[in-house]
Amino acid sequence: MLKGYCGKVLRVNLSTRATSVENLKEDEVKILLGGRGIAAKYYYDEIGPGVDELGPDNKIFFMTGPLTGTPLVSTTKFQLATKSPETRMYLCSNCGGDFGPQLKQAGFDGLIIEGKAAELTWLSLKDGALEFHDARPWKGYTSVKTLGALREAFGEKKAGAMSIGPAGERLVRMSYINVDDRAFGRGGPGAVMGSKNLKGIIVKGSGDISLADAEKVAAIRKAAVVELKTSRANHTKFGTPQYVEPLNTLGCMPTRNFQTAYFEDCDKVDAHEMVAHYVKKNYACYRCTVACGKMCEVTEGPYKGAHARTEFETVGLLGPDCGISDFAAIVKGNQLCDELGIDTMSAGNAVALTMELFEKGLITKQDTMGIDARFGNPDALLGIIELIAARQGIGDLLAEGMYGVKKARPEWKRFILDVKGMPFAAYDPRGFTGNGLTNGTSNRGACHNVGGWTIRAELQSGKYDRYALEGKAALVKAAQDSRAYVDSIGMCTVVRGAFGFSEAPTGEVLEAVTGYAFTPKLMEIAQRIYCLERVILNREGIRRRDDLLPERITKETLPSGPTKGRILTDAMYDVMLKDYYGLRGWDADGVVTEETKSKWGLKELLA
Ligand code: SF4
Repeated sequence: MLKGYCGKVLRVNLSTRATSVENLKEDEVKILLGGRGIAAKYYYDEIGPGVDELGPDNKIFFMTGPLTGTPLVSTTKFQLATKSPETRMYLCSNCGGDFGPQLKQAGFDGLIIEGKAAELTWLSLKDGALEFHDARPWKGYTSVKTLGALREAFGEKKAGAMSIGPAGERLVRMSYINVDDRAFGRGGPGAVMGSKNLKGIIVKGSGDISLADAEKVAAIRKAAVVELKTSRANHTKFGTPQYVEPLNTLGCMPTRNFQTAYFEDCDKVDAHEMVAHYVKKNYACYRCTVACGKMCEVTEGPYKGAHARTEFETVGLLGPDCGISDFAAIVKGNQLCDELGIDTMSAGNAVALTMELFEKGLITKQDTMGIDARFGNPDALLGIIELIAARQGIGDLLAEGMYGVKKARPEWKRFILDVKGMPFAAYDPRGFTGNGLTNGTSNRGACHNVGGWTIRAELQSGKYDRYALEGKAALVKAAQDSRAYVDSIGMCTVVRGAFGFSEAPTGEVLEAVTGYAFTPKLMEIAQRIYCLERVILNREGIRRRDDLLPERITKETLPSGPTKGRILTDAMYDVMLKDYYGLRGWDADGVVTEETKSKWGLKELLA
């Protein structure tokens, strides 16, 4: 096996308590890298389209990459693939924390969870020794409390740990997995763990990861650390909330359930406000010198004592999108989501939808269990989050995700911001067209990461007309592809530039770690991964109709702010989508052609 990999994957069956170790195939690693690529291949092989996402036949494939756990910078990342309870289709997700590096140091590139435990269970893994434990005393514990309980019971403070909260146990379809206070956030993987009666996993390894050229790895690391000090200074100072103010100034900040894209009170919730009054300390994932996590704490007022690590998406969707101009309430909402175990982005969208329905008189206090669910009411924000996690009142319907809400109440479709059941991130594509294509063609439903992050290119670089349609398909495709390979190597996207991991990859770090010449092939591997994921989606019934944008974006012009009068109509979107399918080699209905499968070697790989 190439250096940088362990060459082994651990499979755990919760129904039978059987475990087995299988080899990672070197020929597959050479064409799919690791992480997202290998996890997608496992998913293709083992999760047929008829599998119930909350049934025992669904599986979770946790997969590291060749850089995960190595002595570079931010080698924290690992991936999961599972069938999503939120979108009812393939889900990939990317996460930091210590778990991935510890899994590698325990001797495994991946961990596969299958079956269903008879009772609530937690797992421990220490250098290859896996044990099953009774988690029934922890039933109802928050995800944060469960992490503490795992560490105490395991007796290793520096282990990597993951857990779910009460929402995951109740199969709330937007439940997340808390990983060392980072998150597999989107798509509801916490509900998959809940459906398997799996409350948490903890892992500790003491092995070394072999490197092809340790001296070179050390030299590359040294140079990158210096470069990151200046190139990522804003991330260190402001974290991802640095984007709140510029996005709003440009008229792209979703406000009151995307009814407009400019929030008049944005200065009360932006990164300057956060740094001046709330940041207690920075948080760094494994081996990260950037430390972009901002641990915020509320020191006065009704939410005194609230604390959370608050990111851009959380601020945007719990803040302006719900009309909330109180940063302390956002921190409290963030903490509630973390503890109850739900994704802040899906929660923000669900609360904003509830507020619009309430203000329009389509639901009443009877539905909200007495909550005055007006935009801008912080108590409503917190109360609705609790209803979702507890599956009470309107919360029981919201807990089914946007897919479930649309099925039960099709007349509410025009108020719902999602693609393929995944709610939008905190960007309004009427302010920059490429973001529409990002949401429409992302392989996990609306997503600014998997779908291709074009914010800097479209809004800040000066190279693109943000309202143009021409050229956006190529921009989005390249961003999607580069993200696909970065998600497969095990390094954080924030630092990747310092290692040459761009859309035209340079550098020698993968060679120094693995001893194999990956770099010239990275964009080819990336396109293979993206195409493989689309083959899976096609098999699950996904077609062009599922790539379309919600009515609010295509039928309603923005009524105010810097983007007043802007819209991204179906006809405009279709221009980009046609270009995009052409570049990808998919047919007019969004199906991967046989020729394209051959081009990326998928026919042999999937035979
Ligand atoms: S840059 Fe931020 S997200 Fe990336 S590894 Fe560092 S702390 Fe984690």
